Amino acid sequence: MLDTTTTAPNINGLYIDGQWLQTSRRFDDLNPSDGSVWARVPEASAYETRQAIEAAERAFPKWSGLRFQKRADYMLKIAELIEKRASDFVAAAQFEGGGWYGKGVYETKAMPEIFKAAAAVCYAPVGEVLPSLHGKVSTAVRVPMGVIGVISPWNVPGILASRPFSFTMAMGNTIVLKPSEETPYMGGLFFAEIMEEAGIPPGVFNVITCSRESVAEVGDELVDNPSVKGIAFTGSTAVGRRIAAKCGAHLKKACIELGGKDSLIVLEDADMERATSAASFGAFMHQGQVCMSVEKVLVQEKVYDTFMQGFVARASNLKAGNVAHRSNVIGPLINDRQAAKVKRQLDDARAKGAKFPLGGGVSGRFVEPTILTHVTPDMEIWRDETFGPVAVVTPFRTDAEAIAMNNDTEYGLSSGIITQDEQRAMEIAQHLETGMCHVNCSTINDEAHAPFGGAKASGLGRYGGRWSLESFSETRWITLDRGQKPFPPVF
Ligand code: NAD
Repeated sequence: MLDTTTTAPNINGLYIDGQWLQTSRRFDDLNPSDGSVWARVPEASAYETRQAIEAAERAFPKWSGLRFQKRADYMLKIAELIEKRASDFVAAAQFEGGGWYGKGVYETKAMPEIFKAAAAVCYAPVGEVLPSLHGKVSTAVRVPMGVIGVISPWNVPGILASRPFSFTMAMGNTIVLKPSEETPYMGGLFFAEIMEEAGIPPGVFNVITCSRESVAEVGDELVDNPSVKGIAFTGSTAVGRRIAAKCGAHLKKACIELGGKDSLIVLEDADMERATSAASFGAFMHQGQVCMSVEKVLVQEKVYDTFMQGFVARASNLKAGNVAHRSNVIGPLINDRQAAKVKRQLDDARAKGAKFPLGGGVSGRFVEPTILTHVTPDMEIWRDETFGPVAVVTPFRTDAEAIAMNNDTEYGLSSGIITQDEQRAMEIAQHLETGMCHVNCSTINDEAHAPFGGAKASGLGRYGGRWSLESFSETRWITLDRGQKPFPPVF
């Protein structure tokens, strides 16, 4: 099927204090499939960023003081509106994000779940009652912090923008969201339209957009401004490290979700249908541009040949091309920079002796589904994140060897193990240095109420359900003395 409506929606402006604000300049938002201009988007500077922060600060007392069930109602309304606007979002996922139609559909189903889970946390306990040495009423209560800055990436922008701001906002914080310059609509202005329609009070939710040229200025304002009490960042490890360091210097709370180099481990008793489909979905969904993508498949040597046969056969069926055709499951990479990075890793591996049982071709922003073998640790592709439709397959002999191969990277986001031996899988899972591990499933898993996050250079802090509450609330100790705590008589 061919989608012919590829035009962008009307871009209203920045969304600050419940108003659409025009800027003197706009920047090009490109369709990655053909490089055409999909939309022209407002270019914010530090000035507009400050305006958004001030609006969010003004809105905080009333929003945090609102009855919690009213905030839950708003979250449910947002979920309902996203469901209604699903087709607009899917079109943006295709023509702004360069994603396969089915990837857009997946996001539109996941986003309402996030807001429903956010509504539920409004009803969660807000603290604990502690025993007291002096018979006091001693409580540890969780309170919202104020303005939270949210910086989100382009690869799964609907989920990765809403996951950090939904729970945070539901608990009473106010938001300034800065989406990626690659997906300013899907990751930002789409939500602004939803918030306006849902009647969210002015200033509670603000969106500022800017190009890569202005991101340092806008980002610095967001991170350095003392009125911003916390930062939720999702993106690359290079940028995340810098932002985490700045937050550290300001003693500001931060939740930082970064890149990955995830392995799927296939044991000799694995169901091969399950193993090859988990590998194919994990490696090639959205051209491998998912932080939890399967980048390495570690296969027990006894089943290596069988696995390879099934995996190559499956992946050869994936068609690459312009995502206006729904049969093209593999779309373009998001930009030329990303395509050049993938090509550099493939060239390096080829020059050092890797073999390519499938693919290996790069044409502009399109990379063929690619499977590599004979990869050695001196190749860049062994340890560094690729973020393309590329899977390295390597045999192993013992479980200890598989664990060591999985851990041989600075990253530690997700992992997967395919086997019928649940006890052995749980034992292996204990030793994998990753924030998440999924037995008999792919590495790509995300449920709104579960703790999502990485170990090592894959991040700091967790999103999802009550873990988001911990990330963006302050715990306060509040006691009520009933006259029992004695003071030294000299006073
Ligand atoms: P990126 O780091 O280039 O950009 C992420 C965000 O940071 C964007 O909004 C960008 O505009 C902003 N940014 C860039 N420079 C900034 C600065 N100086 N100050 C403030 N903000 C700045 O990452 P990307 O290319 O958008 O995303 C891809 C990366 O994100 C991959 O490495 C991927 O693995 C990672 N990722 C991680 C997760 C996770 O949950 N762990 C999820 C998705 C993507």
